[in-house]
Amino acid sequence: DSPASRPKLKILLAGPRGFCAGVDRAIRVVEEALRRYGAPVYVRHEIVHNRTVVEGLEEKGAIFVEELDEVPEDGHVVFSAHGVPKSVPAEAQRRNLLYLDATCPLVSKVHREAERHFAGGGPEQRHILMIGHAGHPEVVGTMGQLPPGAVTLINDAREAAEVQPKDVNRLAFITQTTLSVDDTAEIVDILRTRFPNIEGPRREDICYATTNRQMAVKELAAECDLVIVIGSPNSSNSQRLREVAERSLAKRALLVPKVSDMDWSELNGVKTLGMSAGASAPESLVQEMIEELSARYDVTIEERIVKEENINFRLPQPLADAV
Ligand code: SF4
Repeated sequence: DSPASRPKLKILLAGPRGFCAGVDRAIRVVEEALRRYGAPVYVRHEIVHNRTVVEGLEEKGAIFVEELDEVPEDGHVVFSAHGVPKSVPAEAQRRNLLYLDATCPLVSKVHREAERHFAGGGPEQRHILMIGHAGHPEVVGTMGQLPPGAVTLINDAREAAEVQPKDVNRLAFITQTTLSVDDTAEIVDILRTRFPNIEGPRREDICYATTNRQMAVKELAAECDLVIVIGSPNSSNSQRLREVAERSLAKRALLVPKVSDMDWSELNGVKTLGMSAGASAPESLVQEMIEELSARYDVTIEERIVKEENINFRLPQPLADAV
């Protein structure tokens, strides 16, 4: 087709989008471990929640497992970016496994906050309310920094309004890093109103990458007939981006793992398309989508960058010494 015979489509590209510093580091940990120790390298849980990333690392010799008992005695094992309960490195040590921790430093920071509030279980101990989604590995990992019962999970505003802590004057809150900024602000408001002496971060523990990606999508959503977020269904920050788009007056918003999953009939009648990608989705998936759209439409692309990011995290020991 000549461009003239193809329908016009304006693409608004959200910036920043895609990989964050924690995801980039976690992938480098696996690649560097493979380079240094040779295949196979075991990875406990999807290193980041993206099938394309996982399959790419599998091709290079990574083996993904859910639990440590699937790792043989002399194996090297990497813990995913989401973090792990304390029992996991303890078990790895007990079995003399060589482990590398790819937990994002911004998740580790929340782990340390939780420990500080717990204060070793001493007289300064506060009961912790964790705002997050039940079952997500980051939540399991953060709650697992402390003994059972030290942390109560708050899934939503209703639970924040109903929770009945034993001592309202000895409370603290922490949050998952990949939540909706707006929903979390509402939940934190409820907690601070009900428990004026609650301790916590100034706002929440949502990371810079989640905050910036949500802000960028909000900026363009209202102009769009459809917003596509490239990301996997099990990726929390990608799911939140899709919701943010919909709530920010995009007519519709879809989460699409990769170009081959796209239902092209969704584009019927669409003149302006917004695009973003979750923090675990590679930019190559965005570019493949744009290529495919360019074959079907006469596209114009406008990138809307709301914030420049230049954050980089060092590799964990002992890999940091190797590069
Ligand atoms: Fe770290 Fe945020 Fe990326 Fe999660 S989304 S890996 S917390 S930077």
